Amino acid sequence: MSDLKLSELGTKNKPLRCSSLGLLNCGLRFVINLMSESRHEEAVNTGTLFHVGVEEWVKTSSLAAANDAMNQAQERFREAGENVGDKTKAEKWVKLYIKDERNAPLGVWPENREIGRVCHVEQKVALTIPPAPFDSTESPIYVTGTLDQIRETEDNRLWVWDCKTSKMYNDRTPNDILHSYMMQVIAYAAGASQMLQETVRPGGIILARSYGARKEERKQVFYRISIPQSAIKLVLQSIAESVAHLRNGYISPTITTECAKCFVTTGPSECLVHLQNLGVE
Ligand code: SF4
Repeated sequence: MSDLKLSELGTKNKPLRCSSLGLLNCGLRFVINLMSESRHEEAVNTGTLFHVGVEEWVKTSSLAAANDAMNQAQERFREAGENVGDKTKAEKWVKLYIKDERNAPLGVWPENREIGRVCHVEQKVALTIPPAPFDSTESPIYVTGTLDQIRETEDNRLWVWDCKTSKMYNDRTPNDILHSYMMQVIAYAAGASQMLQETVRPGGIILARSYGARKEERKQVFYRISIPQSAIKLVLQSIAESVAHLRNGYISPTITTECAKCFVTTGPSECLVHLQNLGVE
């Protein structure tokens, strides 16, 4: 049995994480993810090492400082009894990231200004979304997270970019990738806009693994999310509607092409069994 209470999802005490919003397309997948947060610990912590290394390098321009920061992060994992991640891999990605001149340190304009310059890194954000009209709890939805980067373009506009290291995207198309992360990046942008009191737009995804790719079609690193500002409200509404279904007690599996790559099962026939065994209130 689980102590997960669906009516408490997204309340002030149980805020949703921006990084899990992309899973909301299927309510069952979202709930199972909440109940198994330690999954893929090594991959997740290797990704964290990469983020820690990049953050330190962006702030200090020092690879030695990035290396120290990654060692300290591993120490924290060790003390918490967690998997320490693969530092060799994370270090390799940090070095490749640094080599790309578009990733200049904080505040510095790269020669290629298309993606802009980094002006904020690892920024905590909090966002409140009004509940859907049919949400039985009538409570606002609290969402929190830490965005990777805000970049500024030459026209003074601000954009959120999120770095990803997961290998599950090796076999996905650019559209799959953008679809998976759109809600997360939009939530970061909306949270950053509330926090900074100026418009921050969804920029896109930086796929760190692409730096080491051999195949030409895998070498693209920056994937832009192209969505008009006017559509952002609709995306936030759709998040509120998905959350309302869950808060109202409906954990529906949504069978789509995403099922083929779902971490829950090898297919919908098995996830329906998961649904019977969930034991959530
Ligand atoms: S297999 Fe499909 S329906 Fe089942 S949990 Fe995954 S995404 Fe949802």
